[in-house]
Amino acid sequence: MDKKLNFASIPSSAYVHIPFCRRRCFYCDFPIFVVGDRSRGETSSTISHYVELLIQEISITQSFGQPLKTIFFGGGTPSLLAIDQLQQILASLERHFGIVPGAEISMEMDPGTFDLAHIEGYRSLGVNRVSLGVQAFQAELLKVAGRSHSIADIFAAVELLRKVEIPEFSLDLISGLPHQSLEDWQDSLFQAVAIAPTHISIYDLTIEPGTAFGRYYKPGDRPLPTDETTVQMYQMAQQVLTGAGYEHYEISNYAQPGHQCQHNRVYWENRPYYGFGMGAASYVDSKRFTRPRKTKEYYQWVEAGCIVDCEVTPVNEVLLETLMLGLRLAEGLSLETLGAEFGEKKVEDIHQFLQPYFDKGWVEVIEGRLRLSDPQGFLFSNVVLAELFAEFGE
Ligand code: SF4
Repeated sequence: MDKKLNFASIPSSAYVHIPFCRRRCFYCDFPIFVVGDRSRGETSSTISHYVELLIQEISITQSFGQPLKTIFFGGGTPSLLAIDQLQQILASLERHFGIVPGAEISMEMDPGTFDLAHIEGYRSLGVNRVSLGVQAFQAELLKVAGRSHSIADIFAAVELLRKVEIPEFSLDLISGLPHQSLEDWQDSLFQAVAIAPTHISIYDLTIEPGTAFGRYYKPGDRPLPTDETTVQMYQMAQQVLTGAGYEHYEISNYAQPGHQCQHNRVYWENRPYYGFGMGAASYVDSKRFTRPRKTKEYYQWVEAGCIVDCEVTPVNEVLLETLMLGLRLAEGLSLETLGAEFGEKKVEDIHQFLQPYFDKGWVEVIEGRLRLSDPQGFLFSNVVLAELFAEFGE
């Protein structure tokens, strides 16, 4: 018999991972499968097979009876999906969970991977939010980063999004790339603002071991920007984007008023969500589970019946996750909610422990909410969170 959950634990969001890219960017360590510069869902048997397994996974996942309010197709490059593949995935989500009318349906897309027919098809299926992976507006930096698109592709993609009147669209930019100067970064910010998307995400490059960048560059060494320059880049983004009317609502995210990403808010507010596909994480019934990150293992896992085998997360880990995610939001966390969930004594302990950071002005309590200040607290979030982990991790 199906297990019942309390209402707050029932997901109404789903993440769907589409792990295919034309090539691997030099900084990327995501679970993806490289299909080559000409492949896409219409012609690739690898993508078709994956979509079949994804639908199988969706159909055997337990539904708790709440329809989906947000769906996020992330990757990888979801815009490599054929229109009928997206239709099949959405139909299986609709059949199995239900989708509320007007649900936020987001899709990550890369310039150069879709044409007018694709974006019209996706739009007609309900996609109403696009996150476009631009990363930089300088041809030489796109090359340095191993991106598979050109500057012309970026502007062509924006034109297509405008043509089909996608109501929400976001541009992703990366700071801290090798050879990237402060002037390059400023130019990218200005060009993004000139396009006037409803949302802009800013990511600071992390050099991951096992990537091409991990082999060629050492954090702190040239041609990577210095720590001082990356701090200036973060501050510059904050100034340029808030100056252009965007709200800095999360450490890495800016939105025009009323245009925040509802799906990502589910993660930051530590609310439950389903996850489907290779390497995708889910959070259901207080249990986090990450699916196998390699193609073969994921296929075997689905064929064996998608057994989710994980322990209930211990309460101290739930506390740390709540802090780590909630402090990413500009509005921070409600102390009252924190107290109701983890006890008043714990809230007092946290408050006392954070006193040195209150003194530095990195942490503050405004209208009953604990939050990092902007930009100082956000800039030093790693320090504050590392200290919280060390203190409350046991
Ligand atoms: S497009 Fe995204 S997922 Fe694909 S290789 Fe580049 S960074 Fe990784």
